[in-house]
Amino acid sequence: MLLDARGVGVRLGRLRAFIHRGTLQGAREGALRGWTVAVKDNIAVQGWPLTCASAALEGYQAPYSADVVQAVLGEGAAVVGKTNMDEFGMGSRSRHSAHGAVRNPRDTTRTAGGSSGGSAAAVGAGAVRAGLGSDTGGSVRLPASYCGVAGFKPSWGVLSRWGLVSYAPACDVVGLLARTAADCAVLFEALLPGSQCRDPTALALAPPGAPVALRALTFGVPREWAPFVCDARALDAVLQGTHVRVRSVSIPSLRDAAALYADYVCMQAASTLARYTGVFTGAGAVPRVSADADGFGAHVRAYQHARLGPEVVRRVDAGRRLLATPGCWEGAVARVQQLQAEFARVFADGCDLVLGPTARYAAPALDAPPDPDEDVFTVPASLAGLPAISLPLGARDARGVAGVVGTQLVGPPRSDWLLLQAARELEGLFQ
Ligand code: GLN
Repeated sequence: MLLDARGVGVRLGRLRAFIHRGTLQGAREGALRGWTVAVKDNIAVQGWPLTCASAALEGYQAPYSADVVQAVLGEGAAVVGKTNMDEFGMGSRSRHSAHGAVRNPRDTTRTAGGSSGGSAAAVGAGAVRAGLGSDTGGSVRLPASYCGVAGFKPSWGVLSRWGLVSYAPACDVVGLLARTAADCAVLFEALLPGSQCRDPTALALAPPGAPVALRALTFGVPREWAPFVCDARALDAVLQGTHVRVRSVSIPSLRDAAALYADYVCMQAASTLARYTGVFTGAGAVPRVSADADGFGAHVRAYQHARLGPEVVRRVDAGRRLLATPGCWEGAVARVQQLQAEFARVFADGCDLVLGPTARYAAPALDAPPDPDEDVFTVPASLAGLPAISLPLGARDARGVAGVVGTQLVGPPRSDWLLLQAARELEGLFQ
């Protein structure tokens, strides 16, 4: 039995954080010896379900383990289950799930966030030391903010995606959830691709540089985020309590980032999910699924593509219509490049990191109406491929963690170690 922030007893099962429990024991020795790790259900663990919270994949079991799962096992962690999520990663509240909605461990009337809500809830409830998730537009950072834990989205491409089910490949990364940035850093190091990496598109990351003092860094706070901020008490506490050097900066493309993201990922999803959606591509009763060695195609054929949930169908459909419009994809790519260039200018002009809130508000009620701007602070780093972390720095607020918003740091391309180092120092000031 767990206690939520109001002192109410909660059974772990009631959170619907896990869709499968089991134990895979890792190596005897390693940096993660003694750790328990939960794995989002869009990351393959050999012999365990891989449903992506979709009825379309009910009963499907992964024929191999993802590189990141092999890595945590190789470093001595125990993998203890698969976690609930929004179907194929599409959502911000872990409600679009064939397994039911995930509840926030701090207040079970509220959402845990999404799409990696199950991993965040499992960490927040103290059921595991860490969680693996995925982040395409904020899916580890937003649930981290809502559940009062740390959520780290590495630079695009630096962790192997072998065994991660695609949603929007230009943004998809494996993400990390833990109680602190210090734990995220230990886990990140264990996950970095080694000689066994099976993702030929993984990018190399330089080793950590010399330690940099927090007071030597300059943080840029984008002006364009100001109109969206509703509840930035945690960020205010950071700015007032730490005396870090802050500068107001301009990144004009941030104003439209949420709308750009919606188009950009729907177009990619229409392509990556085509393997499940023969019915929408006009192929009638014969899904366009190629024969493949691991039996995945046969599984999809057998299990009716039409069992995809309404949010997935909506996005794939929207993406197909956009892709059929001449110039739409090229236009979105150009706008993403513009956003990248604006971030680059801010970093070139002397800002080491960008600072802002992670979310617009604390965890909403489970049945709150959807908000198209919910991800407005998290999607920019995803579009630009930049590393970003959400920290629960306002966690001592009187209303408890569920009552505050995470603080987000965003770094230049592949500055993951600098970002983690700054995050660790920042959280140290709040402990
Ligand atoms: N909420 C965003 C979406 O629905 C981000 C999800 C994610 O990062 N997987 O696309």
